[in-house]
Amino acid sequence: MDLNGKVIVVTGGGQGLGRSMAITLAAKGAKLALIDLSREKLDEAVELCKAAGGDAKAYIANVTKEDDVISTFDQIVEDFGSFNGIINNAGILRDGLLIKVKDGEIVKKLSFTEWQDVIDVNLTGVFLCGREAAERMIKLGIEGVIINISSLSRAGNIGQTNYSAAKAGVAAMAVSWAKELARYGIRSAAIAPGIIATDMAASMKPEALENLTAAAPLKRMGTPEEIGHTCAYIFENDYFTGRIIEMDGGLRL
Ligand code: NAD
Repeated sequence: MDLNGKVIVVTGGGQGLGRSMAITLAAKGAKLALIDLSREKLDEAVELCKAAGGDAKAYIANVTKEDDVISTFDQIVEDFGSFNGIINNAGILRDGLLIKVKDGEIVKKLSFTEWQDVIDVNLTGVFLCGREAAERMIKLGIEGVIINISSLSRAGNIGQTNYSAAKAGVAAMAVSWAKELARYGIRSAAIAPGIIATDMAASMKPEALENLTAAAPLKRMGTPEEIGHTCAYIFENDYFTGRIIEMDGGLRL
Protein backbone atom coordinates (compact mmCIF):
# COMPACT_ATOMS: atom_id res chain seq x y z
CA MET A 1 0.00 0.00 0.00
CA ASP A 2 1.23 3.45 -0.88
CA LEU A 3 0.32 5.46 2.22
CA ASN A 4 0.08 8.76 0.35
CA GLY A 5 -3.52 10.01 0.59
CA LYS A 6 -4.75 6.90 2.46
CA VAL A 7 -7.17 7.29 5.38
CA ILE A 8 -5.88 5.54 8.50
CA VAL A 9 -7.67 5.40 11.87
CA VAL A 10 -5.55 5.25 15.03
CA THR A 11 -7.28 4.47 18.33
CA GLY A 12 -5.57 5.95 21.38
CA GLY A 13 -3.98 8.38 18.94
CA GLY A 14 -3.72 11.26 21.41
CA GLN A 15 -0.41 10.28 22.97
CA GLY A 16 2.35 7.69 23.23
CA LEU A 17 2.66 4.98 20.60
CA GLY A 18 -0.61 5.92 18.87
CA ARG A 19 0.49 9.50 18.35
CA SER A 20 3.95 8.49 17.21
CA MET A 21 2.64 5.93 14.68
CA ALA A 22 0.22 8.57 13.36
CA ILE A 23 3.07 11.06 12.85
CA THR A 24 5.13 8.43 10.99
CA LEU A 25 2.22 7.72 8.63
CA ALA A 26 1.44 11.45 8.24
CA ALA A 27 5.02 12.01 7.09
CA LYS A 28 4.25 9.56 4.27
CA GLY A 29 1.20 11.62 3.24
CA ALA A 30 -1.51 9.60 5.03
CA LYS A 31 -4.72 11.20 6.35
CA LEU A 32 -5.19 10.34 10.00
CA ALA A 33 -8.42 9.93 11.95
CA LEU A 34 -7.29 10.00 15.56
CA ILE A 35 -9.59 8.54 18.22
CA ASP A 36 -9.08 9.14 21.93
CA LEU A 37 -10.86 10.16 25.13
CA SER A 38 -9.56 13.70 25.59
CA ARG A 39 -9.83 16.73 23.30
CA GLU A 40 -6.62 18.43 24.48
CA LYS A 41 -4.28 15.51 23.68
CA LEU A 42 -6.03 14.90 20.36
CA ASP A 43 -5.72 18.52 19.22
CA GLU A 44 -1.99 18.42 19.94
CA ALA A 45 -1.61 15.14 18.01
CA VAL A 46 -3.56 16.54 15.03
CA GLU A 47 -1.22 19.54 14.84
CA LEU A 48 1.85 17.26 14.99
CA CYS A 49 0.47 15.10 12.13
CA LYS A 50 -0.19 18.20 10.03
CA ALA A 51 3.31 19.51 10.74
CA ALA A 52 4.69 16.13 9.58
CA GLY A 53 2.95 16.52 6.23
CA GLY A 54 -0.39 14.67 6.48
CA ASP A 55 -3.98 15.71 7.07
CA ALA A 56 -5.56 14.74 10.43
CA LYS A 57 -8.82 15.02 12.34
CA ALA A 58 -9.70 14.36 15.98
CA TYR A 59 -12.56 12.13 17.15
CA ILE A 60 -13.53 11.77 20.80
CA ALA A 61 -14.82 8.25 21.35
CA ASN A 62 -14.59 5.41 23.82
CA VAL A 63 -13.55 2.21 22.03
CA THR A 64 -15.47 0.10 24.57
CA LYS A 65 -18.85 1.60 23.56
CA GLU A 66 -20.39 -0.03 20.49
CA ASP A 67 -22.63 2.95 19.61
CA ASP A 68 -19.72 5.37 19.97
CA VAL A 69 -17.51 3.27 17.67
CA ILE A 70 -20.22 2.87 15.00
CA SER A 71 -21.14 6.57 14.87
CA THR A 72 -17.49 7.66 14.92
CA PHE A 73 -16.57 5.36 12.04
CA ASP A 74 -19.58 6.61 10.04
CA GLN A 75 -18.41 10.17 10.67
CA ILE A 76 -14.86 9.33 9.55
CA VAL A 77 -16.13 7.91 6.23
CA GLU A 78 -18.33 11.00 5.79
CA ASP A 79 -15.43 13.37 6.54
CA PHE A 80 -12.73 11.67 4.46
CA GLY A 81 -14.80 9.73 1.89
CA SER A 82 -12.63 6.65 2.37
CA PHE A 83 -11.24 4.17 4.95
CA ASN A 84 -8.00 2.33 4.18
CA GLY A 85 -6.79 1.02 7.52
CA ILE A 86 -6.81 1.02 11.28
CA ILE A 87 -4.30 0.67 14.09
CA ASN A 88 -6.04 -0.80 17.13
CA ASN A 89 -3.75 0.80 19.69
CA ALA A 90 -5.86 2.14 22.61
CA GLY A 91 -4.94 0.26 25.75
CA ILE A 92 -4.72 0.47 29.53
CA LEU A 93 -2.90 -1.30 32.38
CA ARG A 94 -4.43 -2.42 35.70
CA ASP A 95 -1.59 -4.64 36.94
CA GLY A 96 -1.89 -6.82 40.04
CA LEU A 97 -1.14 -10.32 41.26
CA LEU A 98 -3.97 -12.85 40.91
CA ILE A 99 -3.60 -13.53 44.65
CA LYS A 100 -1.33 -11.34 46.82
CA VAL A 101 -0.02 -12.99 49.96
CA LYS A 102 1.89 -11.15 52.71
CA ASP A 103 3.24 -12.86 55.86
CA GLY A 104 1.17 -15.93 55.04
CA GLU A 105 -2.08 -13.94 54.74
CA ILE A 106 -4.03 -13.24 51.55
CA VAL A 107 -4.07 -9.43 51.37
CA LYS A 108 -5.55 -8.83 47.91
CA LYS A 109 -7.11 -10.56 44.91
CA LEU A 110 -7.12 -9.17 41.38
CA SER A 111 -10.54 -7.50 41.41
CA PHE A 112 -13.27 -8.17 38.89
CA THR A 113 -13.14 -4.48 37.95
CA GLU A 114 -9.38 -4.64 37.29
CA TRP A 115 -10.02 -7.68 35.08
CA GLN A 116 -13.03 -6.26 33.24
CA ASP A 117 -11.65 -2.75 32.62
CA VAL A 118 -8.62 -4.17 30.81
CA ILE A 119 -10.68 -6.70 28.86
CA ASP A 120 -13.15 -3.96 27.84
CA VAL A 121 -10.52 -1.60 26.39
CA ASN A 122 -7.72 -3.94 25.28
CA LEU A 123 -9.82 -6.82 23.91
CA THR A 124 -13.45 -5.76 23.32
CA GLY A 125 -12.35 -2.35 21.99
CA VAL A 126 -10.15 -4.07 19.40
CA PHE A 127 -12.99 -6.40 18.42
CA LEU A 128 -15.47 -3.53 17.96
CA CYS A 129 -13.08 -1.26 16.04
CA GLY A 130 -11.69 -4.12 13.92
CA ARG A 131 -15.20 -5.29 13.02
CA GLU A 132 -16.48 -1.83 12.12
CA ALA A 133 -13.31 -1.05 10.13
CA ALA A 134 -13.60 -4.28 8.13
CA GLU A 135 -17.29 -3.67 7.42
CA ARG A 136 -16.60 -0.20 6.02
CA MET A 137 -13.63 -1.31 3.90
CA ILE A 138 -15.70 -4.18 2.44
CA LYS A 139 -18.70 -1.90 1.77
CA LEU A 140 -16.46 0.67 0.08
CA GLY A 141 -14.71 -2.09 -1.90
CA ILE A 142 -11.36 -0.79 -0.68
CA GLU A 143 -8.24 -2.86 0.02
CA GLY A 144 -7.15 -2.22 3.57
CA VAL A 145 -4.97 -3.10 6.53
CA ILE A 146 -5.77 -3.80 10.19
CA ILE A 147 -2.96 -3.69 12.76
CA ASN A 148 -3.59 -4.77 16.36
CA ILE A 149 -1.13 -3.63 19.01
CA SER A 150 -0.41 -6.67 21.16
CA SER A 151 2.49 -6.95 23.63
CA LEU A 152 5.44 -9.04 24.74
CA SER A 153 3.14 -9.86 27.70
CA ARG A 154 0.92 -11.96 25.45
CA ALA A 155 3.17 -14.88 26.39
CA GLY A 156 1.96 -14.52 30.00
CA ASN A 157 3.50 -12.20 32.59
CA ILE A 158 3.51 -11.95 36.37
CA GLY A 159 1.00 -9.37 37.63
CA GLN A 160 -0.70 -9.16 34.24
CA THR A 161 -3.41 -11.85 34.14
CA ASN A 162 -5.84 -9.36 32.58
CA TYR A 163 -3.40 -7.61 30.22
CA SER A 164 -1.71 -10.83 29.02
CA ALA A 165 -5.09 -12.44 28.28
CA ALA A 166 -6.20 -9.42 26.25
CA LYS A 167 -2.90 -9.10 24.37
CA ALA A 168 -2.88 -12.81 23.47
CA GLY A 169 -6.46 -12.31 22.27
CA VAL A 170 -5.70 -9.41 19.94
CA ALA A 171 -2.74 -11.28 18.42
CA ALA A 172 -5.05 -14.25 17.71
CA MET A 173 -7.74 -11.96 16.31
CA ALA A 174 -5.23 -10.45 13.85
CA VAL A 175 -4.52 -13.96 12.51
CA SER A 176 -8.23 -14.89 12.34
CA TRP A 177 -8.99 -11.70 10.42
CA ALA A 178 -6.07 -12.28 8.02
CA LYS A 179 -7.66 -15.65 7.15
CA GLU A 180 -11.24 -14.34 6.94
CA LEU A 181 -10.65 -11.04 5.18
CA ALA A 182 -7.94 -11.78 2.59
CA ARG A 183 -10.69 -12.52 0.04
CA TYR A 184 -11.77 -8.84 0.32
CA GLY A 185 -8.22 -7.53 -0.09
CA ILE A 186 -7.84 -6.80 3.62
CA ARG A 187 -4.59 -7.70 5.38
CA SER A 188 -4.36 -8.01 9.16
CA ALA A 189 -1.35 -8.27 11.45
CA ALA A 190 -0.13 -7.42 14.94
CA ILE A 191 2.87 -5.79 16.57
CA ALA A 192 4.01 -7.08 19.98
CA PRO A 193 6.14 -4.32 21.51
CA GLY A 194 8.45 -4.94 24.45
CA ILE A 195 9.15 -2.01 26.76
CA ILE A 196 8.70 1.25 24.87
CA ALA A 197 9.38 4.69 26.38
CA THR A 198 5.85 6.14 26.80
CA ASP A 199 3.68 7.25 29.75
CA MET A 200 2.46 3.65 30.04
CA ALA A 201 6.02 2.37 30.63
CA ALA A 202 6.61 5.28 33.03
CA SER A 203 3.62 4.09 35.11
CA MET A 204 5.34 0.73 35.79
CA LYS A 205 7.22 0.10 39.05
CA PRO A 206 10.77 1.53 38.56
CA GLU A 207 12.48 -1.70 39.68
CA ALA A 208 10.36 -3.81 37.29
CA LEU A 209 11.20 -1.41 34.45
CA GLU A 210 14.93 -1.55 35.29
CA ASN A 211 14.95 -5.35 35.49
CA LEU A 212 13.14 -5.73 32.17
CA THR A 213 15.38 -3.24 30.39
CA ALA A 214 18.48 -4.97 31.77
CA ALA A 215 17.17 -8.35 30.56
CA ALA A 216 16.88 -7.16 26.95
CA PRO A 217 19.95 -7.90 24.80
CA LEU A 218 19.84 -4.27 23.58
CA LYS A 219 19.72 -3.01 27.23
CA ARG A 220 17.33 -0.15 26.53
CA MET A 221 13.69 0.63 26.00
CA GLY A 222 12.42 0.91 22.45
CA THR A 223 11.31 4.29 21.13
CA PRO A 224 7.80 5.09 19.85
CA GLU A 225 9.42 6.00 16.52
CA GLU A 226 10.79 2.44 16.19
CA ILE A 227 7.24 1.09 16.57
CA GLY A 228 6.05 3.65 13.98
CA HIS A 229 8.66 2.30 11.57
CA THR A 230 7.31 -1.26 12.00
CA CYS A 231 3.76 -0.08 11.51
CA ALA A 232 4.66 1.67 8.23
CA TYR A 233 6.39 -1.55 7.09
CA ILE A 234 3.19 -3.57 7.61
CA PHE A 235 1.09 -1.05 5.69
CA GLU A 236 3.56 -0.81 2.82
CA ASN A 237 4.41 -4.50 2.34
CA ASP A 238 1.51 -6.09 0.43
CA TYR A 239 2.71 -9.65 1.13
CA PHE A 240 2.58 -9.22 4.92
CA THR A 241 -0.47 -10.64 6.70
CA GLY A 242 -1.48 -12.99 9.52
CA ARG A 243 1.75 -12.56 11.49
CA ILE A 244 2.89 -10.85 14.68
CA ILE A 245 6.07 -8.76 14.64
CA GLU A 246 7.95 -8.82 17.96
CA MET A 247 9.48 -5.38 18.59
CA ASP A 248 11.14 -6.00 21.94
CA GLY A 249 14.91 -5.57 21.58
CA GLY A 250 15.24 -9.34 21.93
CA LEU A 251 13.66 -9.43 25.40
CA ARG A 252 11.98 -12.69 26.50
CA LEU A 253 9.78 -12.85 29.61
P1 NAD B 1 -0.50 5.38 26.63
O1 NAD B 1 -1.16 5.16 27.95
O2 NAD B 1 0.60 6.39 26.55
O3 NAD B 1 -1.59 5.71 25.50
C1 NAD B 1 -2.78 4.97 25.36
C2 NAD B 1 -3.84 5.87 24.77
O4 NAD B 1 -5.07 5.12 24.66
C3 NAD B 1 -4.14 7.10 25.65
O5 NAD B 1 -4.10 8.28 24.89
C4 NAD B 1 -5.53 6.82 26.19
O6 NAD B 1 -6.31 7.98 26.46
C5 NAD B 1 -6.13 5.97 25.07
N1 NAD B 1 -7.28 5.18 25.55
C6 NAD B 1 -7.34 4.44 26.68
N2 NAD B 1 -8.57 3.92 26.83
C7 NAD B 1 -9.31 4.32 25.75
C8 NAD B 1 -10.65 4.12 25.34
N3 NAD B 1 -11.51 3.39 26.09
N4 NAD B 1 -11.07 4.68 24.18
C9 NAD B 1 -10.23 5.46 23.44
N5 NAD B 1 -8.94 5.68 23.79
C10 NAD B 1 -8.48 5.13 24.94
O7 NAD B 1 0.04 3.94 26.19
P2 NAD B 1 1.13 3.53 25.09
O8 NAD B 1 2.36 3.15 25.81
O9 NAD B 1 1.18 4.54 24.02
O10 NAD B 1 0.46 2.18 24.58
C11 NAD B 1 -0.26 2.09 23.36
C12 NAD B 1 -0.57 0.62 23.10
O11 NAD B 1 0.66 -0.11 23.05
C13 NAD B 1 -1.42 -0.03 24.19
O12 NAD B 1 -2.32 -0.95 23.62
C14 NAD B 1 -0.38 -0.79 25.01
O13 NAD B 1 -0.94 -1.88 25.68
C15 NAD B 1 0.59 -1.22 23.93
N6 NAD B 1 1.93 -1.50 24.43
C16 NAD B 1 2.70 -0.55 25.01
C17 NAD B 1 3.97 -0.88 25.47
C18 NAD B 1 4.88 0.13 26.13
O14 NAD B 1 5.91 -0.27 26.66
N7 NAD B 1 4.57 1.40 26.10
C19 NAD B 1 4.44 -2.19 25.34
C20 NAD B 1 3.64 -3.15 24.73
C21 NAD B 1 2.38 -2.79 24.27
